[in-house]
Amino acid sequence: MNSQCPNSDPVVVMKNIVKVYPDGTVALQGVDFELCRGEIHGLLGENGAGKSTLMKILAGLIKPTKGEVVVRGRPVKFHSPADALKQGIGIVMQGLSLVPVFTAYENIILGARRVKPSRGEIEKLMQETGLIVPLDTPVENLSFGVRQKIEILKMLALNVDILILDEPTTNLSPTETRDLFKTLLKLKEQGKSIVLITHKIREIYEATDRVTVLRKGRLIGTVETSKVTPRDLAKMMVGREVELSINKPPSKPGETALKVEDLEVLGDLGVPAVRGVSFEVRYGEIFGIAGVEGNGQIELAEAIVGMRKPVRGRIILDDEEITVLDTSERYKRGIAYVPEDRKTSLIMEFSLVENTPLTEITYSREIVGEMGFVRMKQLIEKTTKIVREYNVITPSIYTSARALSGGNQQRFIVGRELSKDPKVIIVAQPTRGLDVAATEYVRNLLVEMRSKGKAVILISSDLDEVLSLSDRLAVMYNGRFMGIVDPSRITDEELGLMMGGYTYEEIKAQRV
Ligand code: ADP
Repeated sequence: MNSQCPNSDPVVVMKNIVKVYPDGTVALQGVDFELCRGEIHGLLGENGAGKSTLMKILAGLIKPTKGEVVVRGRPVKFHSPADALKQGIGIVMQGLSLVPVFTAYENIILGARRVKPSRGEIEKLMQETGLIVPLDTPVENLSFGVRQKIEILKMLALNVDILILDEPTTNLSPTETRDLFKTLLKLKEQGKSIVLITHKIREIYEATDRVTVLRKGRLIGTVETSKVTPRDLAKMMVGREVELSINKPPSKPGETALKVEDLEVLGDLGVPAVRGVSFEVRYGEIFGIAGVEGNGQIELAEAIVGMRKPVRGRIILDDEEITVLDTSERYKRGIAYVPEDRKTSLIMEFSLVENTPLTEITYSREIVGEMGFVRMKQLIEKTTKIVREYNVITPSIYTSARALSGGNQQRFIVGRELSKDPKVIIVAQPTRGLDVAATEYVRNLLVEMRSKGKAVILISSDLDEVLSLSDRLAVMYNGRFMGIVDPSRITDEELGLMMGGYTYEEIKAQRV
């Protein structure tokens, strides 16, 4: 599957790009990519496919391990983003890079090298592109959508004509998204070449001329958007490897443990990250939540645990509403959480003993005595028990968490949370970065918990993992569930479509 530039030579050719990160991660395994002049080119793939890595190389942020980059016919070697900018290549990343206390105008001229664009020139640029922003307001007082416009303006003011946007619609409202695409079309008419990194298949159809699909660091193909269907793209994007061998007896779900009703939760930027989610989890089942990261999964988990207050909706545990209870009260009632980032769950400088009471120090009378004194003996016993039962390999319980491998840190965290004998366990990306043995251990433990009658919510962007472990599976996209399905019946194509923004209903009704 390969499409060529229709009328002109490509402005960018990337050949056989390999990227191995210093920690040994092979992010790209020999990828080819061509960008035509005046096209909007979608770069599609799931988490970890290598999209950002490929574009960071083109923007001079990182260097390829191997491979060649040719811009307008000339081989280039970039040592910094400034080198790429000199060739007219600029990237707008998700994490915004503006100086918050500066105004839009100050931010725009900040990057300019010799000749600073005048106010008049920037106003003209705003008119030409439709990117209208208030120039004199400090950026910190502006919405995410406006800040993103400023970032694009900044790139254009630097004469960028190869513009890369990394998941630009993540925090935009539907109107802002439409406006952004209108702008991109205008820029294209002006001859700019644009790369749109996305996992949203819908966006591919709204904006792009061609699309390149990556999967696990490999090129799957480059195709003309008009010649493929969303189903084709979904299949290209999602490809599962061998089925995992998890020994999973059939589930015997019991009563409803947790009920979430029409939940709306804001993300860090103050924009809704969860937009009306409802579901129930029963005792004795693993409820999986799949989806590309950043679609509201973490905000949902944090709302259930009490780390984030919902703006709408209800959370009910065992028929009792817990929506406004604080975190420690929820822990007490039996909700445990193993977050995605081990660093937020452990204090790395602390020993294991010191880490044991972290999530329960506020309430456990077993460990914290009446006056708030820590009962050292109990703490040592408890830590020893966690280390023993959950096979944490460590020289001693007094060793700092940092000294443990990722797998052993995770065993310790999981052990610590499970040893509280919770009713509902929420785990996010529980096996990320773990070796095979630790991964298998954690997965089996989750199945065991479920067999013991616990309600398990498994958030994971690892499709093999959610598919093999979950009894029921929700796919989350842009703050919503696209459907709740039986994981043993779902095809890769259906899964890819849901991850890319189509509801199960739409798919089943053949409206895609
Ligand atoms: P995508 O943008 O498609 O989600 P990325 O390019 O971000 O994918 O990541 C590709 C792979 O490289 C993933 O396995 C990711 O974990 C890994 N990766 C990304 N950045 C780094 C880094 N700085 N160090 C080590 N591994 C990284």
